[in-house]
Amino acid sequence: MGKRGVQYFTLSEMEPRVWFMLTGCNFRCKGCFRPARDGGGTALTAIETLEIMDEACLNYYGTVPTEAMITGGEPTLDKAYLLSLVMGLRKREFEKVVLMTNGYALGVDENYVQELEEAGLTEAHVDLKSFSCDVHKWYTGKSNKSVLRAIEKLSASGIELLVQTVYIPGIVDEKEIEQIAKFLASLNKNIRYRINPFSPAFAHERVTTRMPTIEEMERAYEIASGYLHNVIISRSCYREYPTPPPQKTWVTVYPDLSFKRRSMEDQNKERISWVSQSQSRSAGDILRDKAVEKGMIREIEEGRLKRTSSRSTL
Ligand code: SF4
Repeated sequence: MGKRGVQYFTLSEMEPRVWFMLTGCNFRCKGCFRPARDGGGTALTAIETLEIMDEACLNYYGTVPTEAMITGGEPTLDKAYLLSLVMGLRKREFEKVVLMTNGYALGVDENYVQELEEAGLTEAHVDLKSFSCDVHKWYTGKSNKSVLRAIEKLSASGIELLVQTVYIPGIVDEKEIEQIAKFLASLNKNIRYRINPFSPAFAHERVTTRMPTIEEMERAYEIASGYLHNVIISRSCYREYPTPPPQKTWVTVYPDLSFKRRSMEDQNKERISWVSQSQSRSAGDILRDKAVEKGMIREIEEGRLKRTSSRSTL
């Protein structure tokens, strides 16, 4: 079995839950904001990964949790590793094992979804970047045919499915979202579908200069809801809290078992450092873009979008 680069484990401070951050990716999304895409981390087998996870969780929680999220980068690049990781988690009596993926590898290998189900995967969150193949190729470097195939296979499996799309003004907007919603509805009208707004500040390349407006997000919600029963629009995970997020959120544990309580500020600093190394935008430009976004986000949090956040309990 191969090794995967593990950047770190994230332990939730709100409830026992562990995230695995694996490095490397088979896409090169222009709007990527994840430094893990470019590799790095500590190369570990799945067994080594699980042993370190055990120790990190026992040190922090005094027990091993029952919920795991496997993310990256892209977690599906090595099938043997991923199957072994999922099986190892289920053997440890994890009840919820969630894979966050771009879906590509799951559609290329006809057996992958079935094998993941047999290994015990309970849930998959698939990013569908666009319905148009041309847009998908331009944005990610790869066709979306395998991603659509992966969604079909997951929808027909016993694995719970959530599909997500980032609304990118002028690129992936309401026309694309309508096509995606139609496609998902042709499989099952109950598929959960989440639309997230694009955040240009931390995007790897400057594909657009602005976030979608509140009205654009509302309109996308209305259109998708015309086809699907379970649609949500969301800014990010902390948007789901009805009040400002608690100060305690998560602890990052590195493969050498050192740990750090990283705030959003720390995470933003890492992203700024990554983005400013990879393109011509300076850290100052990125911070200016972020300030503009903050103004809009404040508006969202002050209530104009509040009614849409309670429409679904995804
Ligand atoms: S956004 Fe996700 S799928 Fe796209 S390059 Fe980044 S890590 Fe890979």
